[in-house]
Amino acid sequence: MISERRLMDAFARMRELSGQGEGPGVYRLAFTDADWQARGYLTGLMREVGLAVREDAFGNIVGRWEGTEPSLPAVMFGSHADSVPNGGNYDGVLGILAAIETVRSLKEEGFCPEHSLEVALFMCEESSRFGAATLGSRAMLGELSAEDAKRLTDKEGLTLYEALKKRGLRPDDLGKPLYEGKVKAFFEVHIEQGKVLEHEKKTVGIVTGIAAPTRFRVKLTGSADHSGATPMALRHDAACAAAEIVLAAERLAKAEQEPPAVATVGVLEIAPGVMNVIPGDAELGVDIRSIDAATKKRVAEALSAAVSEICKRRGIAFELAPISDERPVAIRPSVLDFLEGICRGDGCSYMRLPSGAGHDAMHWAERVPTGMLFIPCRGGVSHNPNEYAAPEDIVHVTRLLEKAVREASKKSVRFV
Ligand SMILES: [Zn+2]
Repeated sequence: MISERRLMDAFARMRELSGQGEGPGVYRLAFTDADWQARGYLTGLMREVGLAVREDAFGNIVGRWEGTEPSLPAVMFGSHADSVPNGGNYDGVLGILAAIETVRSLKEEGFCPEHSLEVALFMCEESSRFGAATLGSRAMLGELSAEDAKRLTDKEGLTLYEALKKRGLRPDDLGKPLYEGKVKAFFEVHIEQGKVLEHEKKTVGIVTGIAAPTRFRVKLTGSADHSGATPMALRHDAACAAAEIVLAAERLAKAEQEPPAVATVGVLEIAPGVMNVIPGDAELGVDIRSIDAATKKRVAEALSAAVSEICKRRGIAFELAPISDERPVAIRPSVLDFLEGICRGDGCSYMRLPSGAGHDAMHWAERVPTGMLFIPCRGGVSHNPNEYAAPEDIVHVTRLLEKAVREASKKSVRFV
């Protein structure tokens, strides 16, 4: 049976392995001493519950419970344990501790899986240290090369390649898939990192897809004239154009409902930035997300048309430079129905919702049937020392994960 005491003890231990940084919260940046200690603790737990543990060239850990038919693809579940600076004790940690507790509980009751079960601890999920996210999953799937590892650096200038070497890992082996097995299904449980579940008073969220950002930068060049001597009709104010663009982003994203889109202008700089000069230059950083690529494209295209119209009308020159355009992933209907069946059987209050944040699961979702379950986190606060998830929600979602894993490990259960 899933044990609240064991889970809470493990969360408490993880909080102790939080590292030293400036300010409060968890400071477990990838491959630092704190991250390595937490990895050691989690590996120990995996061994303790009877998993056969192996490590790959990137340091990812997979703990295997051989099924009665070892040649069948494995059911994999897990998450990450690194954090952002001054992060919380639930992001990632929930997924890996729930996975280990699931195995412990199934072993206690003498369960025999047909498909093998594999618990995965992914390294370096957060982009905080090397500026790129979900690197462990990418490495496992062969989407990260040794050259990438040499290019990515932390703020001290240490490359990911060197950081891996320092830990006795093998960055030269990157490029080919480090994970050589076959996966039948992948599951990850995670805190929502948003406010929807709390707002809707649901205890569980079934993730319908994982949004990915399209980002671009807009540079506006107007005319930096005297703020007293230039009448309103003769101005080319870059800040006014920027303000219209910000509102256009909001309006265009709001217009998308099913599936929804979000658009954020998180960077807005104007120059020269003095009270007596009309802003001649402005620069905006735009981030648009949706779980649906076509929806995201529609918002991005409509926004660039709006930029062009606004600038033309105001006599302002503009440059629109793409920064990134990542693929969102949709969760397969068969997996959504499977997880919904488990939630319905449990009698809990659940809802379907998209994930605005990226997760390890998104890389698996492109290749194998993948499902994610969210629980609420208080106030939607995450990546913050005040991050909090209630013990009852943690225990509950672990029970759901256990059910999902138990079912998925049966030969008779198939995903399309
Ligand atoms: Zn996470």
